[in-house]
Amino acid sequence: MTYQDLNPEILKEFPDYDDHEYVRRFVLEDDIIAFIAVHNTNLGPALGGCRMRQYTSELEAINDVIRLSKGMTYKNAMAGLPLGGGKAVIIGDPQTQKTEKLMQSLGEAVASFDGAYVTAEDSGTTEEDMVAIATQTECVVGLPPEALEGNEYGELGGNPSPMTALGCYHGIKAAVDYRHDQKFPLKGLTAAVQGVGAVGYEICRLLQQDGVNLIVTDVNQEALERIKEDIPTVRVVTPDEIYGVEADVFVPCAMGGILNDDTIPQLKVGIVAGMANNQLHSAHHEKMLVDRDILYVPDYVINAGGVICVGYEFFRKSAYNPQDFEMTRDAMVAHVENIGKTVMRILLEARNANQPTGETSNQLAEEKFVKGEALDQVNQEGNANFAESDARKVVQ
Ligand code: NAD
Repeated sequence: MTYQDLNPEILKEFPDYDDHEYVRRFVLEDDIIAFIAVHNTNLGPALGGCRMRQYTSELEAINDVIRLSKGMTYKNAMAGLPLGGGKAVIIGDPQTQKTEKLMQSLGEAVASFDGAYVTAEDSGTTEEDMVAIATQTECVVGLPPEALEGNEYGELGGNPSPMTALGCYHGIKAAVDYRHDQKFPLKGLTAAVQGVGAVGYEICRLLQQDGVNLIVTDVNQEALERIKEDIPTVRVVTPDEIYGVEADVFVPCAMGGILNDDTIPQLKVGIVAGMANNQLHSAHHEKMLVDRDILYVPDYVINAGGVICVGYEFFRKSAYNPQDFEMTRDAMVAHVENIGKTVMRILLEARNANQPTGETSNQLAEEKFVKGEALDQVNQEGNANFAESDARKVVQ
């Protein structure tokens, strides 16, 4: 494995470049190229997953790693985690070019940051890959429970998807309360869920337990069969129809870019609140939602349950725990549930400032990591207290 840091003067040409601390190019096993970007470590080590895909060029991969690592800084800050933002991308086909040796050399690449970057799974990488990386560095999370056995932190590891869905559930509840200006039961409401894979399936289960009517779609028949078997009352529509169904909440759980010029005019919902990353095709699409009086819950805030889950795994594993979080599963779950309060805080502040929710969320995140807000002010309790008192104004 060899590497070189890219020249900041050249990186300035990339639209999302934001004085990243590192953008490093690696030549891994079999001459496969990878990039790791660390955007900002003001709040702590940069945590973000490792993606493997067939980028068409190195430029495309650099663009992605710059954008995604920056996104992780905002996400981790709003999740109340003492972590910065980073990301790794490997250029290659995960089906044919991924080997154990390749992932081990990615582990060496992660180790070159001396603790400033912590990796995890993302599209194209698996738990098994994390095990290979772990042979070279401690800075990897998302390990399978069996790899954690005997280390006393097994209860803080494992698949993050259920936690992502749990955070989303609390975010949806907050958005519904906000929309109705009072505590409002989910029972009898309708949710349109796009994609019933790992997180979409879980959110359906949680919403169904509260008596929510479900309309679902997926391009994968097996995923649809599973949901129909487990929740026989679901109504299935085609992937094109999901945008136009009448529902209270649209819950995107498949892919990015789905809020665009084509789809926004079709929506017949009051709220968009789902877990897919990068739902807005372009920044101006949030304004289009506002103009149609559709409340948008920023995706990186409502889908942070997974990163909270792997974050706790890292705190337990590394003994890096500046906010003295309790290292139990209950404490981690409570942190995930706090996403509801963070969502409420953003919605209220956005209303007060008369601005789109995404803009408010970005500003709040920047206050934490750019302006160096003291760590004890960003802890869970601080967020919760603020949100609770303000939320009370709405729900009383
Ligand atoms: P997944 O692959 O398990 O599920 C995605 C589902 O969407 C699949 O069933 C797929 O068939 C379906 N799908 C794909 N294209 C579709 C289309 N055009 N119309 C309808 N359905 C379609 O992935 P996942 O882990 O559930 O993640 C879903 C989204 O949530 C992704 O954007 C991911 O980045 C985001 N996310 C996931 C997590 C997590 O913990 N898994 C955390 C944060 C964000």
